[in-house]
Amino acid sequence: MGLGRLLDWKRRPERATYERDRVGDAERWDERDVLFSRTDLHRRYGIDSEEACEYYERHPEHLEYDTKIGTDYGLGSKAGVDAPMYRVSFATAARLAAESFVDGEPAAERVELTPERATAKIKAFARLMGANLVGTGPLRQEWVYSHVGRAIGPVGDQSERGAPVDISHHTNAISFGLQMDYRLIQSAPDFPTLVATAEGYGRGAWVAVTVADYIRRHGYSARAHHVYNYHVISVPVAVDCGLGELSRAGFLITKELGLGLRLATVTTDMPLEHDGPVDIGAQSFCERCKLCAEKCPSEAIPKGEKTEYNGIMKWKLDEEKCYRFWQAVGTDCSLCMVNCPWTKPPTWIHRLMATVAGIPGPHQSFMVWADRVFYHRGRPWGRPEYMEDRS
Ligand code: SF4
Ligand code: SF4
Repeated sequence: MGLGRLLDWKRRPERATYERDRVGDAERWDERDVLFSRTDLHRRYGIDSEEACEYYERHPEHLEYDTKIGTDYGLGSKAGVDAPMYRVSFATAARLAAESFVDGEPAAERVELTPERATAKIKAFARLMGANLVGTGPLRQEWVYSHVGRAIGPVGDQSERGAPVDISHHTNAISFGLQMDYRLIQSAPDFPTLVATAEGYGRGAWVAVTVADYIRRHGYSARAHHVYNYHVISVPVAVDCGLGELSRAGFLITKELGLGLRLATVTTDMPLEHDGPVDIGAQSFCERCKLCAEKCPSEAIPKGEKTEYNGIMKWKLDEEKCYRFWQAVGTDCSLCMVNCPWTKPPTWIHRLMATVAGIPGPHQSFMVWADRVFYHRGRPWGRPEYMEDRS
């Protein structure tokens, strides 16, 4: 095996690693229960609105927390004159959340392609549009939201909050990984990491809507799912598409980018070849490594064992604790991301280390120790020269 192939090597098991931890069926989630959908409910309708009353009658357990956090994302309060650096990316993503962008009628005539050829073309096109990672897999309906929660986008061209989601005719998914700027996330938890987050989501929106449109022009149904208009839960779909695994930090971990990426998705009825899931050794590595949990200022990441959540044993992130810290610090945080040993620039030495780290065994504990010793001094980095310093 040549060095390049060794560096890119990944185990491809038949079933995703979360399947080993499955203890029951997963129920479809209602997107209205997602934290950002709840803040949008307040922002759009108000805490005393009919919509809010209806929601909290069904979910009184969220009322106290949601009342406290209110409508204020708390993000960007440290941004000052540089606020447009993150707002433009989110504003573009919001425009691209219009139903007319994420979905549409397929062309009347179908272009006949083999699944292999179609997949190769779509992957190449997605990379051309700006995706760093692309994977394909089956769309499992358990990862499709039951109802729309967020309805962001131009008025009159939005998804309807509370509408049932039905994309049962979509059998395939394409998952995109968007690398976050390594320099900017090293400032965590300061404003530049918010710029990196927004840029990743903005590019993800662009990639997803262009790829979905590309597929529709071949005569197949296709829908984009991105930061402001999801009908699927992007992390487990990305796992099924072979981008990475579930991590202790609660989100996707990849061999190439660690935790330092954002996701977008396209679902379709176009026949595609599946990459299949990967086993990059993250489950046994995360068992030994607790760096993200130790560095998390809000104790949102569990330090202990996996627990059952919706039919799967997993490390469950406490989003409410995490988000409260974002509000307190005035930006999204990313400390878990930058402290993860897998979040490194893709130099050959780091790629080699990731390959070795992916083989389960006691050497993984040594690698965690070495990462603590050699990488976790002197953080965070300051702001880059082109941003104003408001520290
Ligand atoms: S983003 Fe920050 S607060 Fe949230 S889980 Fe990661 S380290 Fe904790
Ligand atoms: S910091 Fe360690 S425990 Fe957390 S996600 Fe990364 S490898 Fe897993």
